[in-house]
Amino acid sequence: MAAFIVLLGPPGVGKGTQAKILAETTKLAHVSSGDLFRENIKNQTELGRLAKSFIDKGELVPDDVTISMIRDRIARSDCEAGAILDGFPRTPAQADALENMLTEFGGEVDVVPYITAAESILVERASGRWTCREQGHIYHQTFSPPKKTGVCDMDGSELYQREDDKVETVTKRIRVYLRQTMPLVEYYRKGGKLLEIDGTQAVEQVTKELLSALNK
Ligand code: ADP
Ligand code: ADP
Repeated sequence: MAAFIVLLGPPGVGKGTQAKILAETTKLAHVSSGDLFRENIKNQTELGRLAKSFIDKGELVPDDVTISMIRDRIARSDCEAGAILDGFPRTPAQADALENMLTEFGGEVDVVPYITAAESILVERASGRWTCREQGHIYHQTFSPPKKTGVCDMDGSELYQREDDKVETVTKRIRVYLRQTMPLVEYYRKGGKLLEIDGTQAVEQVTKELLSALNK
């Protein structure tokens, strides 16, 4: 049965950073809803145009388009053994849709690491984040700076600051998260899948705790 890991946690807590490391280590696919939306925006698709109008405001993209985008992604062959889901599901309707998809594709949610940190840390992390234009590699101006300012260590592409990482928009995204995504914490806790991890720790320590959860 294909194993899906759902990474839960507020904006800026370190989901993307950890998802990339876990994907390398476990050889599972990394499925990031935010990256998929940003790819669509870059390629100027219709989905990208629609998503941008919500992302720029710090609001969630509507469930129907988000669900169908993820469904198409999970149906691809690199997800046959499972995937690290980063940023999806984010609403109860998305969590229900995920259950249905996995029943259809023969997979299950294995474990739900829930990474936490206080709001001040989230704002500090998101507002210092630099993202790689080509593949979404993640840096922080203070905590994990690139070797050369403005250039991705991994693929040499330009680093940029996301429009929605402005302090104002991050604060809004945290409010949206509390209202719309927090119910999933209880949902997965009741299902016995939730594993809480202190996201204020160093990247390596968070990775260590995640890997030990995955190996259980
Ligand atoms: P998310 O996907 O949850 O929004 P990211 O993985 O993009 O979070 O991380 C947000 C920012 O915080 C990035 O700039 C990243 O480099 C930095 N970061 C991630 N994890 C840590 C950590 N454990 N300690 C310090 N900075 C971190
Ligand atoms: P972060 O890593 O900081 O949590 P993401 O890159 O995951 O941010 O998401 C950026 C934006 O993309 C969100 O604020 C939202 O507008 C949109 N988005 C990402 N995932 C979803 C989702 N599952 N449902 C709805 N909107 C989403």
